[in-house]
This record gives sequence, structure tokens and C-alpha cells, in this order.
Amino acid sequence: MVPAGPTGPRTNEYPFRTKAAPVPATKGYKLVRVRYFLVSFRRMEILTLGNEILRQKAASIADINGDIVKLAQDMIEAMHLGRGIGLAGPQVGVLSRIFVVHADGDIPRVFINPSIIQTSAELVEYEEGCLSIPTMYADVTRPEMIRVQAWNERGRPFTIDAEGLLARVIQHEYDHLEGTLFIDRLSDVKRDRLVALYEKKKRM
Ligand code: ZN
Repeated sequence: MVPAGPTGPRTNEYPFRTKAAPVPATKGYKLVRVRYFLVSFRRMEILTLGNEILRQKAASIADINGDIVKLAQDMIEAMHLGRGIGLAGPQVGVLSRIFVVHADGDIPRVFINPSIIQTSAELVEYEEGCLSIPTMYADVTRPEMIRVQAWNERGRPFTIDAEGLLARVIQHEYDHLEGTLFIDRLSDVKRDRLVALYEKKKRM
């Protein structure tokens, strides 16, 4: 136990500190953040191909409460840790209709109970990967532009017109809520080849 130093009783939370090195309150805050980071990193395991949860349809979220806010925060963190640009509930074992995206040059966004209400006739090919099928990539054809309606983590409904990478990642994450993976949108031959390669890499 460390006596409360000039920074007040907060220091008592950290018995590993010596009183020879009193730490300012701002540093204490940083330590809290680090601990939180480690805890959530352990908790947010990302499920990979072969896990049946990834193949189930997610259920609507009835109440956007504190638990959902925390879930969204943890998912954004896990997405960043995994160096992904999107992450959906089922990928972290939560069969609820929520996903987070953070496309390059954009802000992190939370989509709860999303609906894709319009899609452009124009289709584009774009290379996709997935945190649940690590190291595998393939070109997938999807609508170039979409209009999405959803709720954010503050419980507010919003509509967004997306194109380019943002449209792409939203469609990919939306698929996860339906139990669909990007490999399902490839030809049988391409999908089988990709899965075989993935299994082989996994064994190595
Ligand atoms: Zn994915």
C-alpha cells in the first residue's frame, strides 16, 4: 500500500508504485488506460473461419444502452488492434446487429440495426480481406454506392450515402450480420482455392 502522496488517494490503486516515485495524476490516468487496453484486448477475441457463430444471423438490438456503448468502444479498439477497417458483432461472438467501421481518411463509425436502403446499379471490383480470415484477400464485386440507415451508439438514427472504400466496408460488415463472408461472393473455384490456402497456412 502506498501512502496518498501529493496526487491524492488515487495512488492507492497502484500498490506496485514506490513512494520514491510519486506519479502525477495525469500519469495515473494513463495507467488506467493501459490496464483497460489489456483487459479488453484479452476479452475481444476475433473468431475465425470455421467458427459456426460467423454463419449465424445476428438479432436486432432492442435497447441502445450502456452495454452497447461499451461493446461499440471495445469493438473499435479491437478493430484498430487488428489493423482492420471494419468489425461486426458476430466476429467477436456477439450475435447482435452492430458493426463498426473506420475507413482511411474517415472517422470511426458505429452502425446499429443497419439497413442498406439503396444500392447503385454500378458495380465495382475491390480487393477485400477479413479479420476472421486473416491474411487472405480476394477481389469482390459489389455496388459502388449505397445508402444506409442505422442508429449510432448514442441511440440516434442516421442515414449515410457512402461510396468507395466506406461503401465497400459497410457492405462487407453488413454481410457479417447475415452470416455471410466475403468468400461466399466468389466463384466456387476461387472460394475453394482460397479456403484451401487458408487451411494450409493455418497448419504451418
Ligand atoms: Zn469481415
